[in-house]
Amino acid sequence: MREVAETLRSGWLTAGPKVKLFEERFATYVGASNAVAVNSCTAGLEVALAALGVGPGDEVIVPTLTFCSTANVVVHRGARPVLVDVGPDGNVTPEAVDGAISSATKAIIPVHYGGQPCDLEAIYRIAEDHGVAVLEDAAHVAGATYRASKVGSDAVSAAHRIPRATVFSFYATKTMTTGEGGMITTPDEELARLMRRWANHGMDRDAWSRTSAGDWYYEVVDPGYKANMTDLQAALGIRQLERLDDFALTRQRYANLYDQLFAGLQQVEAPLTHPDREHVYYIYSVRLALNGSKLSRRGVGEALRDRGIGTSVHFIPVHLHPFYQRSFGYRPGDLPGAEELFERLLSLPLYPRMTDGDVHYVADTLSRVLQEARA
Ligand SMILES: *Cc1c(COP(=O)(O)O)cnc(C)c1O
Repeated sequence: MREVAETLRSGWLTAGPKVKLFEERFATYVGASNAVAVNSCTAGLEVALAALGVGPGDEVIVPTLTFCSTANVVVHRGARPVLVDVGPDGNVTPEAVDGAISSATKAIIPVHYGGQPCDLEAIYRIAEDHGVAVLEDAAHVAGATYRASKVGSDAVSAAHRIPRATVFSFYATKTMTTGEGGMITTPDEELARLMRRWANHGMDRDAWSRTSAGDWYYEVVDPGYKANMTDLQAALGIRQLERLDDFALTRQRYANLYDQLFAGLQQVEAPLTHPDREHVYYIYSVRLALNGSKLSRRGVGEALRDRGIGTSVHFIPVHLHPFYQRSFGYRPGDLPGAEELFERLLSLPLYPRMTDGDVHYVADTLSRVLQEARA
């Protein structure tokens, strides 16, 4: 709050010195050579696709178990989203990606589901073999690591020569927040320069550099977007970033506690984890096994709601939404892994301000609801 008030008093509200500082700190934190702050992850994905040259006639591979914006931005660019299936951990499988590559494929957007990184090494290898770009949707994983490197670091793709960027979300509910906001990181300086321009109307100079240089002249080089972050958001981000590791530790502690409390319960399967990745538990999404129960997944959610516990489902697979069925011919049954998972998923409360008592209350209540519903 102090940092935001200080920014208000400074007289510079839009993208300026605080955004620069936040970009530098975030780049250092993840280990990236370049960071470009934007006003949302959605905008960042679209800016990156534009800078990668994705447009009409191109295909972009997107896992179906994601928030709609991962696919919507591909449509905005006039390209075709090729939706693919996911494994039991919610992450896209390398086999699904490999099977969807065509001569029109321009990029792959792996989504790091729920806070756990995808099998990045396998995905980068496929991308390199076929000469396509990788744009990681890292909305859930600020702070997570893959094989000892932070998601978004240069090191993750160091062995592979492909165009590549990673986009984070600082939406209110994510692992750190600026209210709304996002950050793109990339090892590629030229791509960073293009993304910066696409995020600023396609202008070759931004307002801060024009003002500080006392010169009004600029040129529009691309039909860019209005996607810049503001200094007010960056002020929040600078302070949130300092707390990100603590937030992650708290989330992990509560997730481990849930895991223990559900260990003996056959009807609740805890999230799957991989030893080479650090999960930051943006969501704690269990898989319910309700065969032989009088309750449906919806019924379980309602019973929990009646006892003061909010739940959600992440996500309705993109290919089941009317727009994607109408425009691209997708049908139920097309991507069975994601559909089967979707039917069983339930995201339980998980946020740093919870207490151990809250976690116990949720777990005990869920077990009781499931016991009572046994047929
Ligand atoms: C939240 C989310 C986004 C969008 O993030 P915004 O910053 O709100 O634009 C994109 N992809 C996934 C997987 C998300 O969960």
